[in-house]
Amino acid sequence: MRSNLAGPRLLLRRLREVMAEPIKAQERLDKIVVLIAANVVAEVCSVYILRADGVLELYATEGLKREAVHHASLRVGQGLVGLIAAEARPLNLPNARAHPAFAYLPETGEDAYNSFLGVPILRAGRTLGVLVVQNQSHRTYLEDEVEALQTTAMVIAEMVAAGELEAISQKGTGLDLSRPIHAQGVALAEGVGLGHVVLHEPRVVVTNLISEDTDAEKSRLTTAINRLRLSIDDLLASNDIAAVGEHREVLEAYRMFAYDQGWIRKIEEAIRNGLTAEASVEKVQSDMRARMLRQTDPYLRERLHDLDDLAHRLIRELMGRDHGSAVDDLPQDAIIIARNMGAAELLDYDRDKIRGLVLEEGGPTSHITIVSRALGIPMVGQVHDIVSLADAGDAVIVDGDAGEVYLRPAQDVQNAYAEKVRFRARRQAQYRRLRNKPSVTKDGVEIALQMNAGLLVDLPHLTEAGAAGVGLFRTELQFMLASSFPRMKEQRAQYEQVLAAADGKPVTFRSLDIGGDKVLPYLRSIQEENPAMGWRALRLGLDRPGLLRTQIRALLMAAAGRDLKLMFPMVAEVDEFLLARGLVERELKHLRRHGHAVPEKIRLGVMVEVPSLLFQLDELMQEVDFVSVGSNDLFQFFCAVDRGNTRVADRFDPLSLGFLRALKRIVDKAGAAHVPVTLCGELAGKPLEAMALIGLGFRDLSMSPASLGPVKAMLRTLDAGRLAARLLPRLEPGHPEGDIRDFLKRFAAEMDVSL
Ligand code: PEP
Ligand code: MG
Repeated sequence: MRSNLAGPRLLLRRLREVMAEPIKAQERLDKIVVLIAANVVAEVCSVYILRADGVLELYATEGLKREAVHHASLRVGQGLVGLIAAEARPLNLPNARAHPAFAYLPETGEDAYNSFLGVPILRAGRTLGVLVVQNQSHRTYLEDEVEALQTTAMVIAEMVAAGELEAISQKGTGLDLSRPIHAQGVALAEGVGLGHVVLHEPRVVVTNLISEDTDAEKSRLTTAINRLRLSIDDLLASNDIAAVGEHREVLEAYRMFAYDQGWIRKIEEAIRNGLTAEASVEKVQSDMRARMLRQTDPYLRERLHDLDDLAHRLIRELMGRDHGSAVDDLPQDAIIIARNMGAAELLDYDRDKIRGLVLEEGGPTSHITIVSRALGIPMVGQVHDIVSLADAGDAVIVDGDAGEVYLRPAQDVQNAYAEKVRFRARRQAQYRRLRNKPSVTKDGVEIALQMNAGLLVDLPHLTEAGAAGVGLFRTELQFMLASSFPRMKEQRAQYEQVLAAADGKPVTFRSLDIGGDKVLPYLRSIQEENPAMGWRALRLGLDRPGLLRTQIRALLMAAAGRDLKLMFPMVAEVDEFLLARGLVERELKHLRRHGHAVPEKIRLGVMVEVPSLLFQLDELMQEVDFVSVGSNDLFQFFCAVDRGNTRVADRFDPLSLGFLRALKRIVDKAGAAHVPVTLCGELAGKPLEAMALIGLGFRDLSMSPASLGPVKAMLRTLDAGRLAARLLPRLEPGHPEGDIRDFLKRFAAEMDVSL
């Protein structure tokens, strides 16, 4: 037994020569196993490669029977080789046969050998195969030899990744690296996208594995680590962490790892064994990724993820910074894959080329989700390990309706989805043709269809989808995306841009609706037991009038010389509206006094979304210029059912007696007082629900842009008078018939209403 430190370096140098020879893949692999066996002084050296069907196939051997190559195989988890693949860690055994997992393969003639050392062939944490050496004597391989074998395995991993070995499998099943993967995540933004993987943080491909000069590599590593530490310290010291899409906690973890001696020692060891600095970082990163994929404790997984990110930064540091950006050079059908990303980063990409977005993190209320929805990009979140599993350029399908991702999909899946996308496109084309057709029911009732918006990127939909105006502009989105409280000037600029983009069409702004689940990172959030019913929206605005007044002033100035429509959310008492109106009047006076231009006309309204208002409608209508029903919140409070809690959110039906009566009450009272009424919750955007609303008497609906087409198609085929005549009696006391949703569906089917 020997430990010769020059050994691995020498071996790597010889391997480099073999890699450069213009020979066939099989021949290269055959030469590699001979070289390794000679270097480690082993009688046997074998390479097993993982196929797409989960079988490890013997690809080359020195020492075992040649006839077994491409015939001997083991499943993952079967035998020692299968165990190494399953657990992605080395096995070092003086007496292999004594191990409980040992499985004897007679065709290989391995019965003569006792000691066994096997290491996984890893790339980016994925197991691509297993590399084994065996000896007759009972020996334990030294730590250095294990290292050397792992290092050599990297070279083989590169051969697999380069596609060299794909063609020489016996079974033609393809290799595991190209195996189709179906992953279930959480649906975050609707739509279906087919395209090719773009890694948001492109994996830097280390092509130069084998070093010329160990000392030089070591000093490159030292320089890079110093630079890395400095950049993290700088980031932590800056006040603008949120702006770069980082969390302090993650950066703190980065810093801890960047100073971790154990990590650095492992990298240095790989350099000593003959790898370049970047290949050494990659080797250590790959071992760690393999650990991460096995890890089930969510906290430890997170930390391993952080370390993985850090290793990535270090590799980039070593290979030059310009390896970074995925933003340039996008394919025409890019599907962006990332662990997580900031909303601003998504906006850096060319929207026209993005077909979908897949994140390992992300939730329904995260900013990236809001922006993705606004841009109409299908998005799936919470997809575990997708970054490790995907390679740039892989075919991928994102199903933002079902929350599914198909990586390297089989042909039949691709065909099915291509058909789905074509079907959607045909429908979209039909809706586009309706864009300039009047929004009138079959019996001549005009229905105003407006859209909901919250970002400037939403505004082009006004003309694209043919909306009559913006029925709800959620001003809090600008605040949620900012890294600090937007100043008056910034708010004003945004509102000016919105009004300019609306080009004369009416825009109904809603004052800040923050609090609840809409958190601003820079506003100290308080812990509340029931945030949806807590210190949110107008409640917060009235308690902190400085905030609300700034927003009101920005709106008044932005709308100078035009019409301003402004409504207040979460009003529970008429008095709250009067207070808010008082603030508007005060600001108006202030502006006039200082000689500022003010809006030509101001209309102030209230969102009806707290049930207590249902019993103050007469008083309310006396005061307001308009009302808008926020059916999302109104229903949540009406039925005491948390709109964000998937366990209960679908428990009650808004199309049932109690809620429809409540809605009818609002339309009737508004009508009697000649106060315009809109409904801007999600109900308005679903064709069957919108049909019911028209039946109740609503004539103005505001919805997400994607719903405008389907709702218009519905109403143009609807006889509103007939529907009302049949629906309204069902809301009267004592009416015998049951389920109203069923009735509406039957009505639509009978009358050929397009749903
Ligand atoms: C609503 O509550 O129906 C509404 C439109 O407002 P938001 O969804 O922003 O709470
Ligand atoms: Mg609401």
